[in-house]
Amino acid sequence: MSTVQELSAPGLDESHAQFRARVRAVLAREVLPHADGWEQRRQISAEGWRALADEGLLALPHAGAGFLDSAVFLEELGRTGYAGIRAAVGVHAYMAASYLTAFGSPELRERYLAPARRGEHVAALAITEADAGSDLRRLTTTAVADGDGGYRVTGVKRHVANGSRAGFYVTVVANAEASSPGLAGASLFVIDADLPGVTRTPQQTLGWLSADVCQVDFADVPVSSDHLIGRPGRALIQLMSALDFERLVAGLLAVGGALFCVELLKQLIRTHRIGDAPLSAKQTVRHRVADLDAELELVRHYGYHAAWSHSQGKLSTRTASILKLRATELAVAAAEAFARYSGARGYQEESTAARLYRDSLAGVIAAGPSEVMRDLVSGEM
Ligand SMILES: Cc1cc2nc3c(=O)[nH]c(=O)nc-3n(C[C@H](O)[C@H](O)[C@H](O)COP(=O)(O)OP(=O)(O)OC[C@H]3O[C@@H](n4cnc5c(N)ncnc54)[C@H](O)[C@@H]3O)c2cc1C
Repeated sequence: MSTVQELSAPGLDESHAQFRARVRAVLAREVLPHADGWEQRRQISAEGWRALADEGLLALPHAGAGFLDSAVFLEELGRTGYAGIRAAVGVHAYMAASYLTAFGSPELRERYLAPARRGEHVAALAITEADAGSDLRRLTTTAVADGDGGYRVTGVKRHVANGSRAGFYVTVVANAEASSPGLAGASLFVIDADLPGVTRTPQQTLGWLSADVCQVDFADVPVSSDHLIGRPGRALIQLMSALDFERLVAGLLAVGGALFCVELLKQLIRTHRIGDAPLSAKQTVRHRVADLDAELELVRHYGYHAAWSHSQGKLSTRTASILKLRATELAVAAAEAFARYSGARGYQEESTAARLYRDSLAGVIAAGPSEVMRDLVSGEM
């Protein structure tokens, strides 16, 4: 397993190494002993959320120089090897929270962000719909003005991580009065999970078990206008910057996941014997793992370049998309190699190899599929 010192990267200094060592110790103490139980129950326990919050790990910076601490945390979270846990925490502390950090009023931040950072409320991001996934233009969840200055929200969101435990949903909603429905004229709202008309139904996902993925139905839910995130009708512009941040976070988490898998792979080929020699004696095997290790080195350094760019306020869509694309695809390739070289042991449902393989497939879909990342890299979206 890589030591903290071996995991230095451009832009990281001794303080980041110390922070990494602390994060690693916290995750070893507060996450790993419970991880299999959370996978079985398909969600992180309330105690788990609180333990991470008590260590300050749910309130790390979203911007500025301090974001490099977040980058170290996200990589280490990925390196736990439980992508469902990393996704749940990533959505809560970064992806959903970022809309409130960047666009929320002081009142909304105090009411939702502060308790989320203390681990008292879990945050979820409810964007995707049955016909509005990688292309959000066919959004159908709609807000209708109720005549008293508030709104009634109706629609169905799918694949919502932290769905059943969430205290609130950050969600995008079309404007019923807009001349063209869909994303143009849409707004962002924060919606309390305990409002009348909110129903959540767990989805049986193949992997990311601890991510608590649900369908969330909004049926004529009363939402007051002070629950708008930013100005009405601005969702398209808000999403454009927030989605780059989401891709960056997903990419950094996937770097950690790939690192965990490549470390296991190197250990496996050194220790697993075929006849009287280890697997690593076979040149084809050795070279395959060397290729994955080399790709990991490149993607990891690119990840810290992207994190540094973001810390300077200069993250581009292209950089975020390249990272998300290459890190999540590497995680799939590494998981496939680990399953393959594990032999039939890796084909047992409860094996680590099987979990890594199942989990890796979600990475190339969630937060935007690889094809969309390629379109963004080529400037075609
Ligand atoms: C485990 C998991 C957790 C998730 N968590 C959340 C969450 O917390 N909140 C949330 O809002 N959403 C969440 N999602 C939804 C996720 O963001 C969407 O699945 C994703 O945006 C793709 O949308 P879709 O599934 O509707 O696929 P579609 O848009 O229907 O696309 C299907 C497939 O078509 C291909 N494709 C799409 N676009 C193109 C293109 N331009 N060119 C070529 N091929 C293309 C891709 O292979 C893609 O996978 C989650 C998804 C998963 C799997």
